[in-house]
Amino acid sequence: MRRGKKTIQIGQNTAEQFTIGGDRQIAIQSMCNTKTEDWKSTVDQILQLQKEKCDLVRVSVPNKKAARALIKIKEGIGIPLIADIHFDYTLALESIKAGADKIRINPGNIGSKEKLKEIIDAAKKTKTPIRIGVNSGSLEKEILAKYSAPVAEALVESVQKHVNFFEKNDFDNIVLSVKTSDVLETIKANRLLAKISSYPLHVGITEAGTMRSGTAKNAIGIGTLLMEGIGDTIRVSISGDPVEEVKVAKDILKALNLYNKEPIIIACPTCSRTGIDVAKIAQRIEEKTKYVPKGIRIAIMGCAVNGPGEAKEADYAIVGGNKQGAIYKKGEYIRIVDEKKLVSELLHVIKHEER
Ligand code: SF4
Repeated sequence: MRRGKKTIQIGQNTAEQFTIGGDRQIAIQSMCNTKTEDWKSTVDQILQLQKEKCDLVRVSVPNKKAARALIKIKEGIGIPLIADIHFDYTLALESIKAGADKIRINPGNIGSKEKLKEIIDAAKKTKTPIRIGVNSGSLEKEILAKYSAPVAEALVESVQKHVNFFEKNDFDNIVLSVKTSDVLETIKANRLLAKISSYPLHVGITEAGTMRSGTAKNAIGIGTLLMEGIGDTIRVSISGDPVEEVKVAKDILKALNLYNKEPIIIACPTCSRTGIDVAKIAQRIEEKTKYVPKGIRIAIMGCAVNGPGEAKEADYAIVGGNKQGAIYKKGEYIRIVDEKKLVSELLHVIKHEER
């Protein structure tokens, strides 16, 4: 069960409103790796992310041109847009003015309290939520000196100090995050933060690495926290194409039965008994059923050892034989089909709900 907590409206003044926190579906977030000022390429990438069912998208705003590009980007997309700002508070002000649906800052590198106060005042007027995101790589010097290393306690002390400042300035439209590239330290930091704060938490492992190692780290870190009810938005961090981040994020949520916008695919690992090309068939079924709008379970099994058993538990199944396969619906045998026609026949059964 997820813990009770505040909800935050993202996109308060736009058509693409989104609520995070409380008992809402956990939101998938990703981040563009295009140059934000190249708004056309950024819109193209966001549209690809949207197609993959990314809920929220973040872009870096490293300069004024990027901040101004937010206006054009927002016009071309259909999901809330988050501006990620470091160091220069005027970029936060520009981003809010340009209509960012949420901004992400690390108050520790924004500079003086006066500058932070200006951001808070601007965000109050436009009802723009702010994520206070503290990362191990950008921790304030005094806190780092106190703990000697960016440990969980240091991250939580930093974020709590910022929360106190925001609350003193009557601003509670906030989301929090504490991230490190160390999985265990990130889990610890989020557990500590979840105990003392009821604000929505954005969770992820920062700088997790390349496709394979990054997927493993994100799955363990984000998965562990979600299992404990911690986390309202997630960002899988993988070096490379952000579309892959969204796919992995969906798989993490599916593995925890927290995602019902796509089918869950069960496929056997194959062995010498395998009678059909399970990997190819499972991959094609996965691609082709992405748009089936419910969390059905589809099993693709290589032989009759575990096949009928899995078929009983699944909504639809293929149980392989020698270059052919039996199609099942809710455990009931439907018919035997040649291997080449298995994908199209199963899709037909799903579409037309045979029997
Ligand atoms: Fe092997 Fe059959 Fe198990 Fe697949 S289901 S791994 S083919 S025994």
